[in-house]
Amino acid sequence: TASLALRNYSASATAGFAGQKASNGKYTVTLIPGDGIGPEISQSIKDIYLAANVPVQWEEVSVSPVLKGGKTVIPDSAIQSVKKNTVALKGPLATPIGKGHVSLNLTLRRTFNLFANVRPCASIKGYKTPYDDVNTVLIRENTEGEYSGIEHEIVDGVVQSIKLITWDASERVARYAFDYAKTSGRKRVTAVHKANIMKMSDGMFLSACRQVANEFPDIAYDEDLLDRVCLQIVQNPSPYADRVMVMPNLYGDILSDMCAGLIGGLGLTPSGNIGRDASIFEAVHGSAPDIAGKGLANPTALLLSSLMMLRHMNLFDYAAKIENAALTTIAEGRAITGDLGGKASTKEYTDAIIQKL
Ligand code: NAD
Repeated sequence: TASLALRNYSASATAGFAGQKASNGKYTVTLIPGDGIGPEISQSIKDIYLAANVPVQWEEVSVSPVLKGGKTVIPDSAIQSVKKNTVALKGPLATPIGKGHVSLNLTLRRTFNLFANVRPCASIKGYKTPYDDVNTVLIRENTEGEYSGIEHEIVDGVVQSIKLITWDASERVARYAFDYAKTSGRKRVTAVHKANIMKMSDGMFLSACRQVANEFPDIAYDEDLLDRVCLQIVQNPSPYADRVMVMPNLYGDILSDMCAGLIGGLGLTPSGNIGRDASIFEAVHGSAPDIAGKGLANPTALLLSSLMMLRHMNLFDYAAKIENAALTTIAEGRAITGDLGGKASTKEYTDAIIQKL
């Protein structure tokens, strides 16, 4: 199972890890604890890593916005830390709603050009859900689409929001998806789209995917409509277990939450934001303000994200050891958190994992 698990959560090696070991033999990794449940679940990862002797030391930074030249920006110290270490583990950041606020998540993605968001989602053996064979990998274009941030009120009562698709970003994420399929042993890439309606924008995304597909004759390629994929995946997820799905930004955001629902919820799904110069790993879920500070949060999603990070750093054995301990703890069901139907606190679950290392 270790090698299967490794395939599930490994990030492809295309955006290579360039970090250097410090004189104490450890790699420095930037840790952004984030908002809401972020600090609690980050503490859990720190405790588990310490117990597992992972050769990682954390450089903890805050990304709380600071005022610079009349604008709110991410502190330079945070940016410099990620630049230097080239890998970061990030807790969720609360996004303020409304005018005048810039999403810090978007700012980080833009600053480091984190072009591909990898979202694996696999059933946990022994943990009962309607299906036990979910094993999807979604690769979401991470820099544009509906999330380009270009919005304006044309006249009172009319707002225009631009969906931006470029050839370059589409080609780049498509190539990453094919590379990922190749390195992870998946046999097919499916481009998920709505080109029946968005003929030009999604149409160009598909053209870029088709062009890249020609470079990978050993990987099958097909295309499917987002709504059809949603329907089919909740009726029978097994055909999606052999492939990688690649799609524009918004579709990936939504479809990945749906897949999370199939395996037990947002407490379980990791992700990696892959760029050429840096990569930032984070849970798919948000800051969960409804349970923050109560010791109830499930740290698994952030933990599995950190294991994607360890594999990105070629620390495979540590990742496998921690993954086995976490997944066995969930399968046994004695010390699981409330979102999974258990009664354990974040700390009790964390301690149960540590016992198994
Ligand atoms: P959410 O993911 O924070 O929460 C949705 C539901 O899932 C809540 O009921 C929550 O309690 C539960 N949940 C989420 N993670 C959990 C965990 N680890 N353990 C147990 N239960 C968990 O989504 P939301 O409420 O829509 O968003 C809250 C804030 O997070 C918003 O400001 C949003 O913009 C932000 N957000 C940030 C990110 C990110 O930083 N990458 C992603 C999504 C949302």
